[in-house]
Amino acid sequence: MKYQSTRSEDYLYTSAQAIKTGLAPDGGLFVPEKFVRLGADEIKQLSEMSYNEKAFNILRNFLTDFSDDEIKNCVNLAYNKQNFETESIAPVYKLNSQVYFLELWHGCSHAFKDMALQILPHLLACSIKKTSEERCAFVLVATSGDTGKAALEGFKNVPGTKIAVFYPENGVSEIQRLQMITQEGENVSVAAIRGNFDDTQSAVKGIFTDEGFNSELDGKGYILSSANSINWGRLVPQIVYYFSSYCDLMQNEEIKPDEMINFVVPTGNFGDILAGYYAKLLGLPVNRLICASNKNNILTDFVNTGVYDINRSFYTTSSPSMDILISSNLERFLFDITGRDFARIKSWMKDLQQQGRYEVPTITKNKIKEVMWAGYCGEEDTLMSIKDTFEAYDYIMDPHTAVAKNVYDQYLFETGDTTKTIILSTASPFKFNKSVMTALKGDEVGNAGEFKLLEMLSSVSGMKIPESLLGLKNKEIRFEDALSSNEIKDFVRRYC
Ligand SMILES: *Cc1c(COP(=O)(O)O)cnc(C)c1O
Repeated sequence: MKYQSTRSEDYLYTSAQAIKTGLAPDGGLFVPEKFVRLGADEIKQLSEMSYNEKAFNILRNFLTDFSDDEIKNCVNLAYNKQNFETESIAPVYKLNSQVYFLELWHGCSHAFKDMALQILPHLLACSIKKTSEERCAFVLVATSGDTGKAALEGFKNVPGTKIAVFYPENGVSEIQRLQMITQEGENVSVAAIRGNFDDTQSAVKGIFTDEGFNSELDGKGYILSSANSINWGRLVPQIVYYFSSYCDLMQNEEIKPDEMINFVVPTGNFGDILAGYYAKLLGLPVNRLICASNKNNILTDFVNTGVYDINRSFYTTSSPSMDILISSNLERFLFDITGRDFARIKSWMKDLQQQGRYEVPTITKNKIKEVMWAGYCGEEDTLMSIKDTFEAYDYIMDPHTAVAKNVYDQYLFETGDTTKTIILSTASPFKFNKSVMTALKGDEVGNAGEFKLLEMLSSVSGMKIPESLLGLKNKEIRFEDALSSNEIKDFVRRYC
C-alpha cells in the first residue's frame, strides 16, 4: 500500500518513506491510498488475541512494505512490562451499564501519548534502515505537554536518532515541565519557547519546509523527522486501541458481536479521534465519534457551523494538551470526508494560513455531522465533572478525561442515545494533581507543592503514586533554555 499527500497526487511513498519523511514535501500530510475493511469474523478473531497480536494484525494492513518480523519486533519493543504497568496495556474500566473508560495512561509518561510514542521510534529506525538511509534522524517535536515526555522516553538512546523537544514556556503543568527538563539520555535536548503551543508548533513546522536549513543539516549527516501526530507512524498505532477496547467489551459480553458503540475523545490536535475514524473505515462498528474540546472550542464551532476560524482568543486551561487552535490532523479527516479532494484541501489550508479561516460547504458539514458530534466544556465544569464522578463512582479522572465525560453527559442529555459508549481516558490524574485536588478539595489545597499534592491525591484516591513521578523530586535539571521561536534553528545546530 502506498501513501499520498492530502494536498496533491505528486507523491506516492511507501509507509517507510512516509514515516521517515513525516510531512509531505508539499506541506500536506501522508494518508493511505485506500483502507481495507475487516469483517465481523476478523474482529471476532482479534478479540481472542493479546494486545500485541492485535497490534500486529492491524499494523500489517498499513505497513505492507514491512516484513511480519519487522512489525512484530517493533510491537514487542514497545508494548511490554518495562514500558507499561498493566499486562493488558490499555485496560477498560466499567463505570456503569452504559459507559466505560479506556485507560490509555499506563505507559511510562502516564499519558496516552505513550501508546504511539513507544512504538514510533522503532518504526522510524526500521524505516530508516529499509530506505537505505545513512543519515541520522533528527526528530523535532513541538509539545503541548504530554507528547514531549513520551517522545523523549521513546527515543531515548535509540541508535540513529536524536531528538529535540520544544514546549510553550507557560503552557504545561509543573509535573510535565519537570518530566521534560530532567530527561536522561545521550541523544535528547529540550527547550522552552516563549509563546503558546500554536506559536511553538508553527515555528517547528516552518523548519521542516525550510529548504536552506534542511540542506545545511543534510551536509552534516542529518535528516529532519517528526514525532508529532502529523507523522503516519504515530497515528497508525492509535487505531489499535479502538479495536482492543471494542474486543474487550465483546469478550466480557458487555456488547454483542457487531453491536455499534460510541467513542468520546478529548481532542486537541485531532490525532486520537482521527485514529477512531480510521478504525471505523477499517470496519469497526462505530456509531458516533464524540469530539470533546475544552474552552478552546474551535472544533465544536467547526463541526456545528462548518467555519474553522482561528481569529479568536486562546485560553490556557487545566487540560493543556487540548489547548490548541490549529488541529493539524483535521486535514486528514477532511481529505477523506470530501472524497479525497486534495485540490480543495490545499485551498482551505491556504486560506487558513493567509486569513486564519476557511469554510466548508453544507454538504461537507452534513457529512461530518453523520459521523461526529462535538461539544465543549469550560473550566468550572471540568472541575465539577471530576468531583461529581468521584462522588458518584469513586473514580478519579484527570482534567482531559473530565472534559470528555462532561461532553458525553451533554450528548446524552441532548440525544438520549442509549448506545454503549467508551470514553477515552488520556492521562493519569497524578499528572495533573493540582487541578484534580482543587476539584476534590477546593481551597483546602492552598499552596501545596507538587509533591505534597501527589501525596494528597494518593490518600484521597487510594491509588499508588507512580514511581517515576515521585522520583522527579531529586532529579538533576538538565535543560534550562528558554528561546524565542526564531532561535530554534540555532538550538538544533548546537546539538548536531
Ligand atoms: C494529546 C492529548 C490529548 C489530545 O489528543 P490529540 O490526539 O492531540 O487530539 C488529550 N488528552 C491528553 C492527556 C493528551 O496528552
